[in-house]
Amino acid sequence: MDAYALHLAMAALVGASVVAVSAYYMHRKTLSQLLDFARAVERDRDRGRGTAPGDEDDGLGRAALRHGQYGYRRKGPGYYRRGGGSASLPDVMTAVEVDEEDEAMAEEDVAMLKRPSPLMNGAFFTGAAAAEEEKRGLPIPAGLPRLQTVPEGNKKYVQTITDKIAGHANRAISPKSPVASASASAFESQEGSDEDDNMANDAKLDDAYLHTNGHLGENGKSLFQDLPDHIAGNGDPKSLTASSMIRSHSVSGDLHGVPPDPVAADILRKEPEQETFVRLKITPNEIPSPDEVEVYKIIQKCLELRERYVFREEVAPWEKEVITDPSTPKPNPNPFAYMLEQKTDHAFHMVDGVVHVYASKDSKDRLFPVADATTFFTDLHYILRVIALGNTRTLCHQRLDLLEQKFNLHLMLNADREFLAQKSAPHRDLYNVRKVDTHVHHSACMNQKHLLRFIKSKLRKEPDEVVIFRDGTYMTLKEVFESLDLTGYDLNVDLLDVHADKSTFHRFDKFNLKYNPCGQSRLREIFLKQDNLIQGRFLAELTKQVFSDLTASKYQMAEYRISIYGRKQSEWDQLASWIVNNELYSENVVWLIQIPRLYNVYKEMGIVTSFQNLLDNIFLPLFEVTVDPDSHPQLHVFLKQVVGLDLVDDESKPERRPTKHMPTPEQWTNVFNPAFSYYAYYCYANLYTLNKLRESKGMTTIKFRPHSGEAGDIDHLAATFLCANNIAHGINLRKSPVLQYLYYLSQIGLAMSPLSNNSLFLDYHRNPFPVFFRRGLNVSLSTDDPLQIHLTKEPLVEEYSIAASVWKLSSCDLCEIARNSVYQSGFSHALKSHWIGKNYYKRGPDGNDIHKTNVPHIRVEFREMIWRDEMQLVYLGKPIVPEEVDK
Ligand SMILES: [Zn+2]
Repeated sequence: MDAYALHLAMAALVGASVVAVSAYYMHRKTLSQLLDFARAVERDRDRGRGTAPGDEDDGLGRAALRHGQYGYRRKGPGYYRRGGGSASLPDVMTAVEVDEEDEAMAEEDVAMLKRPSPLMNGAFFTGAAAAEEEKRGLPIPAGLPRLQTVPEGNKKYVQTITDKIAGHANRAISPKSPVASASASAFESQEGSDEDDNMANDAKLDDAYLHTNGHLGENGKSLFQDLPDHIAGNGDPKSLTASSMIRSHSVSGDLHGVPPDPVAADILRKEPEQETFVRLKITPNEIPSPDEVEVYKIIQKCLELRERYVFREEVAPWEKEVITDPSTPKPNPNPFAYMLEQKTDHAFHMVDGVVHVYASKDSKDRLFPVADATTFFTDLHYILRVIALGNTRTLCHQRLDLLEQKFNLHLMLNADREFLAQKSAPHRDLYNVRKVDTHVHHSACMNQKHLLRFIKSKLRKEPDEVVIFRDGTYMTLKEVFESLDLTGYDLNVDLLDVHADKSTFHRFDKFNLKYNPCGQSRLREIFLKQDNLIQGRFLAELTKQVFSDLTASKYQMAEYRISIYGRKQSEWDQLASWIVNNELYSENVVWLIQIPRLYNVYKEMGIVTSFQNLLDNIFLPLFEVTVDPDSHPQLHVFLKQVVGLDLVDDESKPERRPTKHMPTPEQWTNVFNPAFSYYAYYCYANLYTLNKLRESKGMTTIKFRPHSGEAGDIDHLAATFLCANNIAHGINLRKSPVLQYLYYLSQIGLAMSPLSNNSLFLDYHRNPFPVFFRRGLNVSLSTDDPLQIHLTKEPLVEEYSIAASVWKLSSCDLCEIARNSVYQSGFSHALKSHWIGKNYYKRGPDGNDIHKTNVPHIRVEFREMIWRDEMQLVYLGKPIVPEEVDK
């Protein structure tokens, strides 16, 4: 019988047109107002003035207004009265309930007017149901709020027996239920008003509400009508019959008692700090064998060698600048303002390829000494010997394997907890955690479609601009395109042909040629160079567009690498003035300088006579401006935004391994290009000295962050292990377990670009990124060359997206990678504090702020714990582990 009524009600509902229902609603509204009025009069008579409910006091107009809104509710109590009421429902209870609601409502009549939807639904149901029920003379539920008055014992009952039903019901009337809110405006008005005022009632509901996983779909309707069975019998649980239980369960499609998932609200109420964590207590082989002890001692020595070389600031940024203001750091209003800074008496000159600095011209004491070339190459050879030792390789391989397995086990035990912790971090998700593109070349920072659009628009708007001097004549943009037999209409991305394709695999030379739009070096010169006839105006405009895209994305940052070739000393001033004059500045961007390793090319062209020339051109201006900022004011201003120095070129070219005693740069006059490690040492040594000098003068420093291990010999990675702060690529670490283990222990940052590797040196599915990540190497994802590689407007997100899909990285993994990228980047202490938490410089979970990074403490603690265990082992129980991250 019940089921039949239910079906009828549903049929009535579905069948009735909107017009019919609203007509009915209007009718009911009037009717209920009348009824209510009658009821009020009746109640007055019954109880006398002393017990008059609150709503009468408000005056009729407002009461009528509310009744119009809450017609169906009013109908409830009225109905009871009319039908004689239920024996189990004393009148007092209803009256009290009405009063409570009225008080709550009185506060925001206007808001009420705007929130028809959830109640409207109810009105429809009860309206239609009322018609049906009226025929049968059965009581109709007075709407769901009455559930709130269920006594404690009964509430429990409702909760345990009718989990889902109660859940549906409560959610249906809950003002926050998204299903119930038909329109955004209704939703908004609810957020503002209802929730606070009805909090007391909601609080009572919590238990039942939170233990449900019900979704209010089509079933919601029938569940509304199931309610009478439980609610009408408020005081009498027995009224819930077996048949109605089965029916209601079958409605929600769950007969098997699957434990409900926690609902979102439940998760949100949980403090992320209370994350629980299944800790791994696996320490196989705690006591190393004598052979292993030998290996660990060797590894210790390697780590100590690195510590001796790599540049770190004396005073950490977080000691220099304590951030007390938690708000967003104010953007620099005038990043190009030059403040006159005092010249110091420092004297400097090159000695065997390395700048020596003295306190004054007359001083003989060298300041800031750095290891000489012979020492460096000796140590490099030591590392190279170590990484070739059989027993070292075996042990490192085993350790790395174990690290990977530990991570897998951690995921198996804790992945759900991590996900729960992420859910409980309000507001933050993968999209609004900060990600830094740690490795991207400026000349390829726009995507191909962007470049194409830009070229077309220039051809349309500035066809008569004289843009190039070629073959003895000045040419306008239009003439250039005529000389190429091209029109703006012809141009498309395919013709532009800047994208890497299968012809570039293992062909760095061909990849480089892709920088030429339409295969034409003249187009590259016009659009992608800053030292051309139009003084790089087009490239500056393009760059600004890229900057504004970044600013719009808000959570994406980039470190653009821009070239200094070392052909002449004036390059620095030229670059700086290009940046300053075009006001190329964004809060989302810092710069790195990349030095192409092209000595042999310049030598052949007769631009330089020795390697020393190259070093002079690169480093002397930097020392000049540091000693006397007034000598190159623009460069001085620009250097404040330069955070790193890079070495770039095709690593796969064959080269000779340097010996311990190499010719000095002055002696290097042959036409051959020096080896990677030769470049690396001289760049490192001069940069180290420069940084020491800059630091002593309170200036910003520049980290050594070269390309290394993209291809070629393993020496590159050995050299950068000794002297680089972090590196780009590093995929060749997969070939050397010892170096990989050393990079892990030192936590050297790897800015990896699997999509770029896929175009050049290594198929995507063979990329070691996921393995490195699992083992706990400090990896980030970067784009390298969006112009040649990426297809979308957000290349960094594209990189994350493909990695996530192919390697099945979880949201937690991606957020951890994003967090790594901020650590690896050269952005200021203030920005890092703002982006990833004010204690970011502390190691382990203390330094993590899940509200900013969306990385669960569980994950950070796991990484820290495993790393400490490993250090413990390597240092044979006596590790020196700092409390703070590397400066
Ligand atoms: Zn690169």
